Amino acid sequence: MFDRVRFEFRPYARRFKRPLQTHHGEWAVRQGVILRLEGADRVSWGEIVPIEWFGSESCLDALRFCQALPGEITHAQIQQIPASLPACRFGFESAWEGLVLPPPNSVPQLSISMLLPTGAEALHAPQLFTASSGSTFKWKIGVAVIQDELELFEELISLLPNQAHLRLDANGGLTWQQACQWLQLCDGYGIELIEQPLPPTQLDQMLKLSQRYSTPLALDESVTTLEQLQTCYHQGWRGLFVIKAPLAGSPVQLRHFCQTHQLDIVWSSVFETAIARRYIENYLIAALPSSNRATGFGVEHWFDDGWEQRSPEQIWQRLEPSNS
Ligand SMILES: [Mg+2]
Repeated sequence: MFDRVRFEFRPYARRFKRPLQTHHGEWAVRQGVILRLEGADRVSWGEIVPIEWFGSESCLDALRFCQALPGEITHAQIQQIPASLPACRFGFESAWEGLVLPPPNSVPQLSISMLLPTGAEALHAPQLFTASSGSTFKWKIGVAVIQDELELFEELISLLPNQAHLRLDANGGLTWQQACQWLQLCDGYGIELIEQPLPPTQLDQMLKLSQRYSTPLALDESVTTLEQLQTCYHQGWRGLFVIKAPLAGSPVQLRHFCQTHQLDIVWSSVFETAIARRYIENYLIAALPSSNRATGFGVEHWFDDGWEQRSPEQIWQRLEPSNS
């Protein structure tokens, strides 16, 4: 359809309302790159949203990659983006699909899981008291002393709205013994799932945990890229997969793998803007059998910059071209 298209990019930095505490430390500013492709009379948008500590390239790597490209690019160039730049591959390939695929005919209606603040602050999160019954919440664990966390957890449970689902995310920060302690408690409460209890190097142990306890386990850090996801699948993992599509590499190959194997997927956010999120909803999630699992896209309340209400064009207009 297109041989080559015009290419421009603009970096962005969005400050979280308050820094996000994770097992990997504090995160204050979400940096990314907006891509703009233009072919014939069509414009399409893409977004590079790396998380280096999650195993993707850094934002600086992504920026350097964009700066080195000419002002016109081809599909073949996008196909040649190396595996070491999975967030770039996602950004460019999704933007390209936006140019060549027809607009989505139906937009999936998704329920979202709301990320609570880490630690005791979760107990005061307004979402707990305003959410409807049946809502899904997510809370980070593996951040403080386990005894304190277990106590907070029981308090948190008592505050949840009726029939709420709670998922926990350890970001790989538990030991085997701690994971057993958590899972024992979670089994009694019917917790929806625990994400990545152990580090990615311990797949065998996570397989054992999944057989020993009834709370479902989800791999997250273990399956950042599509290649890692395929490896874990082929090593026998049949639990849940958290997919952060913007970090996974080729979205076309990701869609194909998910269509071919019936994976239980939790689609998760990397604090991308609506540009990447709409692509994921309309071209990845909508292409798969529908699932009742809430997506992890409930992170709007972590920013108060008004971007959620802006069109891609409006976001673009507010950004400066990078000084290359
Ligand atoms: Mg996670």
